[in-house]
Order: sequence, then C-alpha cells, then structure tokens
Amino acid sequence: MKLSETQIGRLRELLTRSPRRIVLLAHTNPDGDAVGSSLAWAEVLRTMGHEVTCIVPNKYPYFLDWMPGIEQIVIFKTDTEGRAVRAIAAADLIFCLDFNAVSRLEILSDAIGANTTAPRVLIDHHLVPDGDFELAFSHPEASSTCFVVYSIIEALWGTDAITERMAEALYVGMMTDTGNFAFSSLTPELFRAVAVLVEKGISIPAIHNNVYNAYTEGRAKLFGYAIDRKMEFIEEGTVAYMSLKEHEMRRFGFQQGDSEGFVNYALTVKKMKMSAMFLAHRRFIRVSLRSRGDVDVNLFARRYFDGGGHKNAAGGKSYVSMEETIDRYVRAVREFAEEGRLG
Ligand code: 5GP
Ligand code: MN
Repeated sequence: MKLSETQIGRLRELLTRSPRRIVLLAHTNPDGDAVGSSLAWAEVLRTMGHEVTCIVPNKYPYFLDWMPGIEQIVIFKTDTEGRAVRAIAAADLIFCLDFNAVSRLEILSDAIGANTTAPRVLIDHHLVPDGDFELAFSHPEASSTCFVVYSIIEALWGTDAITERMAEALYVGMMTDTGNFAFSSLTPELFRAVAVLVEKGISIPAIHNNVYNAYTEGRAKLFGYAIDRKMEFIEEGTVAYMSLKEHEMRRFGFQQGDSEGFVNYALTVKKMKMSAMFLAHRRFIRVSLRSRGDVDVNLFARRYFDGGGHKNAAGGKSYVSMEETIDRYVRAVREFAEEGRLG
C-alpha cells in the first residue's frame, strides 16, 4: 500500500498541535476491523499526548469483549450520560475509521452533523468514499483498515511506536477482514506487517481462539438451523440466500454477532457465485452479500439495497417485508445475470 507523502505530512501537521482532543468514530455494527483499528489508533495517539475518545453507534459483538481496552469505547446507543455527544462537541479533530460515508453511522449521524465543525480525517478501505473530509486515507486496495492504520503509524513514527496491545488490536482487524488470511488483497506488505506484529509478542493462536471459538451453544444451533432449513439456491445453484426473522433468532437466544459467517457458508459450495443473508431488525432488514471472483456485490448492494462495501463483501438495507425483500433479491439477481454480471 502506497501512502501519499503529502497526506502523511498534513496528518503530521494536524497531530503536532498537541495535546488535542480527538474523537474516533467507527461504523454501525462495529466488527473486528472497526474495533481493532479504533483501539490501536487511540492508543498510539494517547502515547503522543492526545486525549482520545472512541465512539461506536451500537455494541460490538460479544466475541470481541476480551480485547484489551475495549471497555473504554463509548457505545452511543446506551450512552445515557451523554459522553459521546460531549466528546464530539469538544473535539478538535475527528477520525472516521473503517467506513466511507457518514450515513454508515446510522443513529450517530445526526450527532456528527449538528455538534461539530472539527476537521474530519478518513482512514478506510471501502470503495467510493463519500463525504466532506479534510484528509482522506481511502485505500480500497487494502484488506483492512487495521492495515491502513499500521501503515500510517509506520510512516509517521516507525514501527517502534507499536506496543504489544496495539499489535493485538491491529491483528484482530487484519485477521477478521481477510477471513483469516483467505480473501483477496493479501500482499507481501501485509505479511511483513504481520511479522512485525508477531515480533511485538502477540499470540496468533490465542487471538484466533478468542475471536472464532467464543460463540454460545445457541449460536451453534442457530447455524445448523439456518443451513438446514433456511438456505435456498437459485440460478441453477450458483446463487444462494438465507433469511432469519426475529422469532427464529429469539428461539436460539440470538445476540448481536451470532450470525457472523453465515453468509459466507454458501460459498463453500463449489459452483456458488453469490450469497445473501437477510436478517430482520425491528425497523428494517439488514442485507449481507458475499461473492466470488468478478461478481461485484458492491455494485449489487448500491443498486438494489441502498448499501455498498467491497467487491466481494457488501451490505445494505431493505425497508419492506422479508417476503418482498427476498422477491426483490431474486428479481435483482435475474437482472444481474441477464447483464452478464454473474460471469
Ligand atoms: P457485513 O455483511 O459483514 O455486515 O458487511 C460486509 C461489508 O459491507 C462491510 O465492508 C460493510 O462495511 C459493508 N456494509 C454493510 N452494510 C452496509 C450498508 O448498509 N451500507 C454500506 N455502504 N456498506 C455496508
Ligand atoms: Mn474493514
């Protein structure tokens, strides 16, 4: 990944007027990359003398609870003391991590719009950034935001500035966003970065175990149910989808994060090109999309589900019933196929 020297120079300038009050924001339904990049970037900024508040719109999944320092993250949805709003109003500088449009902050969007004129710096790897940023480190070629943060730390202060705790947080994002180093954008530079993190003393097996082997019994059962009873195939078995309604999730004691990985499972079928997961929420249905190779689900999510993401992993929302959502998906897939976009 190539960082622009001009941009690094401008970031250095923004961070030299020390100490500054800094807010870090990450996206709704924060994942390992959002949380990992926030924790690592927060810690390095604190080391440099800044006062940092990390804010996420809603709770991160419980399998990240073990991450050192995660308890300092302010969860806007349950922040009854108004810490998030106060920190935003007092901020001299705001970093937006692992998302590319303010709308991805969902319930937190308004608080950002109304309460601050502080300059915003984007650090992200999603396609097509959209927004008013003083400075944008937008690197869609990077496999994770954690890798972008790593590269920025390296460029600003050298890897000596990375502590074991930061290394652990950065590794979580690199690991989760690459599907444990199995997806695209796996560059030699990424593995060199991982080597540096290992030199800091992190335990890869321990991190792997903490993240991937931390589910509840309910989740294991829900997974079986979803695969057996809810997985549907269309387009001669090259496209799949799965849906879960609220009563089905309740039956298995659903907690946020329990559906992690479900949408990927259909892609273990050899001829599968694209997979979708529809998860019912109170006011809308959350859509998750995955694809293989040239099938572009970022485009699909933008066009049909008011969303976006990456070429092979994207998401969006649907404001109609589950039945209508599925119907819309099946018709959209047909249209996509007719345009030759399913290969
Ligand atoms: P997931 O399916 O794991 O929730 O999300 C996959 C990818 O799609 C992530 O990179 C995520 O940021 C992106 N994504 C998920 N939901 C939305 C959405 O509603 N809007 C946009 N723009 N991107 C989304
Ligand atoms: Mn990410």
